[in-house]
Amino acid sequence: MTHIPGRFEPPPRRLMGPGPSPVHRRVLEAMARPVIGHMDPETLRMLDEIQVMLRDAFRTSNELTFPVSGTGTAGMECALMNTLEPGETAVIAVSGAFAERMVEIARRCGADVEIVGDRWAEPVPTAEIAAALDRRPETKIVGVVHAETSTGMLQPLDEIGALCREREALFVVDAVASLGGIPLEVDGWGIDVCYSGSQKCLSAPPGLAPITFSAEAAAVRANRVQPPRSFYLDALFISKYLGSERRYHHTAPVSMLYALHEALRVVLEEGMEARWRRHAEIGSELLAALVDRGFQAVPPEGYRLPQVVCVRLPDSLAEPDARRRLLGEYGIEVAGGLGELAGKVWRIGLMGESCDREHVKALLDAVDDLLAA
Ligand SMILES: *Cc1c(COP(=O)(O)O)cnc(C)c1O
Repeated sequence: MTHIPGRFEPPPRRLMGPGPSPVHRRVLEAMARPVIGHMDPETLRMLDEIQVMLRDAFRTSNELTFPVSGTGTAGMECALMNTLEPGETAVIAVSGAFAERMVEIARRCGADVEIVGDRWAEPVPTAEIAAALDRRPETKIVGVVHAETSTGMLQPLDEIGALCREREALFVVDAVASLGGIPLEVDGWGIDVCYSGSQKCLSAPPGLAPITFSAEAAAVRANRVQPPRSFYLDALFISKYLGSERRYHHTAPVSMLYALHEALRVVLEEGMEARWRRHAEIGSELLAALVDRGFQAVPPEGYRLPQVVCVRLPDSLAEPDARRRLLGEYGIEVAGGLGELAGKVWRIGLMGESCDREHVKALLDAVDDLLAA
């Protein structure tokens, strides 16, 4: 006879890693509501409201704005699969692991990738992107990660959009860890495709990737020679479900849509500017307190994310032991380093619902205990 395990109860945790972030009670309650059909007029009305709220959060008037069914990486695939055809050129600015993932996916789309920068935790200067576009004037897209979670680094975007427009390349931005945490202006900065994730600064569970396409980017998909290799992530087909045709494409994950709808209400009730201010304040307070305790910031000054504080550990704290104790004894989750930073750093998330003084104090108290031991 099959052994049936007991009911799964998640332990109490303070989620202070680079995602998932803690989920607001209102969002958890929304997810527990009865499931209705994906073609139900009420589901479609809710989806329309999500689209309106996403446009507000992204600061865009783009018609084609929706939550991709899947996590942030599905957003990345949706952005690249729809805009790149085999043999086309993609220029990608690399400062960490998520930009490297962009390179990998662009290559799987059959693109010829020109990597710029390629120095972890260092922002890529606009001049280097311009030089790459001089070498590769046929470039179809320029891909940039706004908040590079692997290194805690902020990549400034405001000049790159104008450059892309001038060179007739689409500007594709990974805002998985930035939407709802730090300033992001899709229309103001000339971004053509921008995708995010539900479980970072929006503080919903993982499972949806908000995305927006400019009219130019939507036209690139519509006018492709070959349809994208992915059926599931085809933005043109999805647009026919979202638009007046209401044509079935795949079953929308309704409970996740309830969650995103409520999470966006929470975000917009606070207001984007207030939210950006909260993250900036709390993030710099945490960093200052950690520096006092012997930690060192990884990215250069002026390019540090408040919502993902990436710090080198003092010699008195050993990885991964200290991090294991933090989780096991204090119930606090932070993340270690990826790639070349493995074993050397912590990545501490202050995203959405974890970005407050109570979380900062709990972490610092635990760190003080570990340092005293
Ligand atoms: C988390 C993250 C991703 C990947 O998102 P998943 O939800 O893990 O698929 C991509 N880019 C950045 C910058 C991220 O922080």
